[in-house]
Amino acid sequence: MVKVVKFGGSSCADATQFAKVRSIVQSDPARRVVVVSAPGKRFKDDHKLTDLLYLCAAHIQYGVGCEDIFGMIRGRYNDIARGCKLDIDLNPEFDALWEKMQNGISADELASRGEYFSAKLMAAYLGFDFVDAALWVKFRFDGSVDQDASYAALQQAADGHGVVIPGFYGVMPDGHIKTFTRGGSDITGALAAAALDADVYENWTDVSGILMADPRIVKDPAPIRYVTYNELRELSYVGAQVLHEGAVYPVREKHIPLNIRNTNDPAHPGTLIMEKIEDDQNNGDSFITGIAGKKGFSIITVFKTGLSSEHGILLQIMEVLEKHKINVEFILSGIDTVSLMVSAAEVSRQLYEVLGELQKNVKPNSITVAEHIAIVAAVGRKMAYRLGTSGKLFATLGEHGVNVRMITQGPDELNIIVGVEEKDFEQAIRVLYDSFVKE
Ligand code: ASP
Repeated sequence: MVKVVKFGGSSCADATQFAKVRSIVQSDPARRVVVVSAPGKRFKDDHKLTDLLYLCAAHIQYGVGCEDIFGMIRGRYNDIARGCKLDIDLNPEFDALWEKMQNGISADELASRGEYFSAKLMAAYLGFDFVDAALWVKFRFDGSVDQDASYAALQQAADGHGVVIPGFYGVMPDGHIKTFTRGGSDITGALAAAALDADVYENWTDVSGILMADPRIVKDPAPIRYVTYNELRELSYVGAQVLHEGAVYPVREKHIPLNIRNTNDPAHPGTLIMEKIEDDQNNGDSFITGIAGKKGFSIITVFKTGLSSEHGILLQIMEVLEKHKINVEFILSGIDTVSLMVSAAEVSRQLYEVLGELQKNVKPNSITVAEHIAIVAAVGRKMAYRLGTSGKLFATLGEHGVNVRMITQGPDELNIIVGVEEKDFEQAIRVLYDSFVKE
C-alpha cells in the first residue's frame, strides 16, 4: 500500500504546521511519498514564499537590490528549522543561491527554490530521503511533461522508502529548471501518485474538501463527501474553483482516488474523488453533488422560418463564429430558432461584425442578442435516476422570481444547466442549494 500525500502552502507555513504534517504522515505507514509546497501565509496579511521569490526575480530583472526580501525568505526557513529543532544548516545553500542571483538566474529557477528548501526541511524532519523534482519531473521543449520518462525516473528514486519531493517544478531537456503554473505542486503530487500507482493521492490543504456551493454566495455550504471525476469536471467547467485539470488528469487516467483533506482537521474525511462511486457512498441526504455557475455570457438567437429543415444552416452559423474565434458554450435549437450561448467578453468586441455576417450568410428573419447572462448548474450523478428533477428546479426558480432564459441537460443527465440574468445569479444558486441540498 502506498499513499502519495501532498501538503499545500498553508500546511508548510511554519514549525507548528510542520508538526501537524509530521503527525499525519507518521499516523499511517502507507504515507511514505510526501510532496510539499513552499511555505504559504501564516496569517491573513503574511506573504507566501513563492510570491517573495518572484518579487526578488522582478527586482533582479530591473536591477534593483533585494537583500531585505531575500533576508525575509532565509529567515522564514531558518525559523522553521529552529522551531522543528532540526540539525540542518541551510545557510551555505542560501549563500550559494544569493551568489547565483547576482550573476543571473531565471525567474523559474528562483521561484522553484521555495519548494526546494521546504522539501529539504521536511525530509530532515520526517527522517525521509529528499528526492529533487529536477531528477524526475521531465519536461519536453514544448512545455509538456514526458510522463513515461518521469514515471520511470521516480519509480527508481522512490523505490520502497520514505521520500519528500518538492512540488511545482521539473527540468527541461537542456537541464534548465522549469516551473508549472501557479499552484502547480498539485500537479507534481498527481504525477508522483500516477508514477507509483498509488492507492490514493491525498491532497492536504486548509479546507475540509470541496464545498457544495461557493461560500461567498451560500452561507456555510456542506463539503462534498463523494464526487466522481466526471462530476468534478462538470463543476469546474461551470465555474467551481477546484483542482487544476493537470492535477487531476494523471491520477484519473490510472483510476487512482483523490482525497482532499484538511491538515488542520485531520479527523475529517474530506472529499473523495473517484471514477465510480458505490450506491451507499452518499453525500448525506442530498441528491445533488454540487451547484456552481459563472457570469459573463450572451445568447445569440437566430430565427428563420423552416430553419430545422434547411441543410447546412448550422454549419453556416458556426463558420461565422469560428471565423471570429468565438467559442460556442451551448447550442439550443427550436423548430425555427437556434440559440448560441457565447462568452460575452469574446463576442462583445466584434458583435456588430458577427451579426452583420450572420445576416448576410444565413438570411434569417431576425437575430436577437440577450446580454448579461449567467449560467448555473446543478450537478449530480443521481439526477439521472430521479423523475421530475428539472420540473422541481424550474418551479423552485420560478417561485423565487428567477427568470430562466435557457435550459440544457447533458445526455448523461449528470447536470442541468440554466441560463439566468446576471442580477439573479446569486439568488438562483441560493434557492437551488436550499431546495436541493437542504431538502
Ligand atoms: N508555491 C507555488 C505557488 O505558490 C506552487 C504551489 O504551492 O502549488 O504557486
